[in-house]
Amino acid sequence: MKVIFISELADKGFIEHMKGLGTVILVPGDPRLDPRISSHPDLVVTIVDNNLIIDEGASPRLFAQLDALELPYVRSSQPLKNEYPYDIAYNAVVTKYHLIHNLAYTNPLILQHCKNSGKTLVNVKQGYGKCSTVLLDDRHLISSDSGICRSVRDLADISILPVQPGFVELEGFDYGFLGGCSGVIDDTVVFHGDLSRHPDFHKIKEFIKAAGKKLLYFTDFPLRDIGSILVYQADDTKSKGSETTEYKKHVNIPIFISHEGCPNDCVFCNQRKITAKTQAMSIDEVKEQIKSYCSTLDQETFTELAYFGGSFTGIAASLQESYLSLAYEYKQAGTIHAIRLSTRPDYISTEILERLKKYSVDIIELGVQSLDDNILAATKRGHQVSDVYKAVNLIKTYGFGLGIQLMVGLPGDTKETAVQSARLAALLQPDFVRIYPTLVIRETELASLSLCGEYSPLSLDTAVDWTREMYQVFLDSHIAVIRMGLQPTELIAEGKEVLYGPFHPAFRQLVESEYFYDLIKKELSLQKDKLPACSRIKIICNPADLSQVIGHKRKNIIRLEKEYGIMKMQMQIITDSRIKPLTLELISE
Ligand code: SF4
Repeated sequence: MKVIFISELADKGFIEHMKGLGTVILVPGDPRLDPRISSHPDLVVTIVDNNLIIDEGASPRLFAQLDALELPYVRSSQPLKNEYPYDIAYNAVVTKYHLIHNLAYTNPLILQHCKNSGKTLVNVKQGYGKCSTVLLDDRHLISSDSGICRSVRDLADISILPVQPGFVELEGFDYGFLGGCSGVIDDTVVFHGDLSRHPDFHKIKEFIKAAGKKLLYFTDFPLRDIGSILVYQADDTKSKGSETTEYKKHVNIPIFISHEGCPNDCVFCNQRKITAKTQAMSIDEVKEQIKSYCSTLDQETFTELAYFGGSFTGIAASLQESYLSLAYEYKQAGTIHAIRLSTRPDYISTEILERLKKYSVDIIELGVQSLDDNILAATKRGHQVSDVYKAVNLIKTYGFGLGIQLMVGLPGDTKETAVQSARLAALLQPDFVRIYPTLVIRETELASLSLCGEYSPLSLDTAVDWTREMYQVFLDSHIAVIRMGLQPTELIAEGKEVLYGPFHPAFRQLVESEYFYDLIKKELSLQKDKLPACSRIKIICNPADLSQVIGHKRKNIIRLEKEYGIMKMQMQIITDSRIKPLTLELISE
């Protein structure tokens, strides 16, 4: 689906024309911004590597349109105000290779992602970078800003056409910007208004033609700045994911490879305890494991062989080959359907991926843990955020499925850094994520740090709160969260190997209960005018979500009674399988 973001104040005929070219989202005014430009898309939306980054304070009407179309997006936060430069955070030129903006004011999520992904950062004085620039493609720009032209013209991999400033209307201002009238839909550069009246029209036309693009403009009204025409190509193959909808028929055969292959000692890790194994499983043990699992599975079950527990691609190449050739044999025979393994970001290279490809590995899970270099250093991970980006790039280039594991509450972590890590991870577009709260395991450095007071684990409530925010990031971006919290085992339990920390056997349920409580509160606030007169509230949810709606130990019911005075007899919770999982309907009557 091609989605075209246009100001709701754009020319009506123009909007109608755009509806013929794609799905139009009309951007409403944002009361935080100058009313003359408050509906400009490029003040609240930036498209980065085919991700929609949208300010979390943008109009609810904008989010309602996105949600109705089931479009994935990543929220960012920025205290936008109605004066320059507090309105320019999202007005950046972002290509596959460059970020061109007044970098002191660029939204931190955009800046961080562009830095991490190795884009060339071009610092310019112009804060309205996007408005000032017609972005034809990753290599061709037109700009009316002399500073941008000067900075970009020395870059070998980009071609820029300087044009005269002005000749563009913007109501309430002396003039607007050419970039603010433009957008590219497929191979056509579209202008909001009559480009032929611009003094550089012929130059512009030739430049566009030389870049291999067509030109579309509207002669019945003058060029008018509408805050750019932003075009987003949605991936129609991707639907809103969750464990229940996408993974319920999958079974993993776990093969623990223990600490084998890992020379690191991350402060939280005692892999030998977690896996309850000090030796890698032998080939015969692996065969035995597969046999015992397969004996209980029916033919219909999608079965994955999963090498978990250590850093698979860090073990000796010969041992990798033995494990992989065995898995490959079973996959060829149809006994298993997919092979997945987990490893570290710095144990990914072309040589390693060639090997995994040879044995038909499907999915690689990266232990990322955090996308903050300070936290990675404090955790003694031994790799940096840049390693994650390089690994993800290679994994995607080779066409493997990608999973990302994140942790909350590592040394130095805060709610902000945890959520920012989730947002950065979402921009990498993995197929799924796992979120683990940091637990203090016996005989780890974290245990020593806790004893001497240098590390305090998160309380359960805090871990749930932070994870709930991260969960929302992945729900918004339609990335499946296949696990939250460590799976309880004989050793992973309080009083066993877990010394301190937010361990709970139903951690996911706690997080999802908070999610539903927020959803109910949101629905109640939407109906607040009706509430005083209503005698009954019906909450209708999918049967799979019932216990999460009620909450652990009926926590949500108790809170609703307390905070809203909604007594049990006035509240009915009803299940209906027609309601989409993770949504609900609230009827007050
Ligand atoms: S890299 Fe993985 S296995 Fe190695 S110490 Fe760190 S968490 Fe443990």
